[in-house]
Amino acid sequence: MNPRATISQICTPPHSPEIDPEIAWTRLRDPGANFFYAVATTGVFCRPGCQSRLPLRRNTRFFPSAQAALAAGFRPCLRCTPLESAARPIVEQVFNYLHQRATNSAPVTLAQLARLTGRSPFTVQRSFQAAFGVSPAAYLRGLRAQALRAQLRQPGNSVTDAIYAAGYNAPSRVYEKTPLGMTPTRFRSGARGEQIRFAVAECSLGHALAARTTRGLCWLAFGDSPAALLADLRREFSAAELIPDDEMLADIRAILTAIDRVESSPGQASGPAPDLPLDLRGTAFQLRVWSALQKIPSGQTLSYSQLAQQLGNPKATRAVASACAANRVALLVPCHRVVGASGQLTGYRWGTERKRRLLAAEAPSA
Ligand SMILES: [Zn+2]
Repeated sequence: MNPRATISQICTPPHSPEIDPEIAWTRLRDPGANFFYAVATTGVFCRPGCQSRLPLRRNTRFFPSAQAALAAGFRPCLRCTPLESAARPIVEQVFNYLHQRATNSAPVTLAQLARLTGRSPFTVQRSFQAAFGVSPAAYLRGLRAQALRAQLRQPGNSVTDAIYAAGYNAPSRVYEKTPLGMTPTRFRSGARGEQIRFAVAECSLGHALAARTTRGLCWLAFGDSPAALLADLRREFSAAELIPDDEMLADIRAILTAIDRVESSPGQASGPAPDLPLDLRGTAFQLRVWSALQKIPSGQTLSYSQLAQQLGNPKATRAVASACAANRVALLVPCHRVVGASGQLTGYRWGTERKRRLLAAEAPSA
């Protein structure tokens, strides 16, 4: 519990919402629900989402605040610690709530987030912005756009189904706000009209495929065969025009020479990575993670939680790990330099064995 928070700050939400017991009863297991419940037979009160055994409906009472439950003579549950939960950091609560609500079309307002955290809308907005670099609303838009992209990639889905399944309450929202930067139909066609140039080369890690748009390198992947690499590229940019371009070999070679040199003489600094423009596409949060990855020097590693901390949100470890896993440009966005808390390799989009070799090659010699 935050020692600086006083009991009244912790327990008093800015508004005491009316509680409909029928609705509240259906939400006992919903950690985002904004009330407390008490069990008459045990004298204990909990926050929704508590893992203790469900009480009988007739023994359950609902309270708008922990303070109200205390005032009615109930003790806080030792399992879900409802007093502490009210003081959980604002950002963590908002983050979890946005993830729960991302694909639910009900709007999320700043007033709701203020009630959830018991802080003012201004404080919520400012704390979240400080941690993620974007407002809660912009973060939620990013999550929904991500869900929409995933839904549109499902071959059986109609565009309309995809829009609703991604948490938009009307197709017009998508066409007016263009969260994808293009219409969903155009997105489904895989950015038709876009030209992506690529080349494949052999290297000490197997084969590497690099691809670029007119803006910069958008893809760098390792694989066991050129055919498998090309299939991955086609899946990612499903209807862009893919053009083999041997002029790109020079770029790839610049990148690969660095790896090959490091692999053949481990511990030697790999020299600066070639300074190629990148065309990275992701949510605002993913872009922040990828930019942080680019600042980890060769020979060093960070854990997912250290990276989350560096980004100002120690609770976002899971989100940081999934942003690393979504990286499309190996090496130049060095997601291989992020490891588990005790140094274990965890996953790598291009195979854990390649991650192990890259790290071994970059490790400073003793
Ligand atoms: Zn409990």
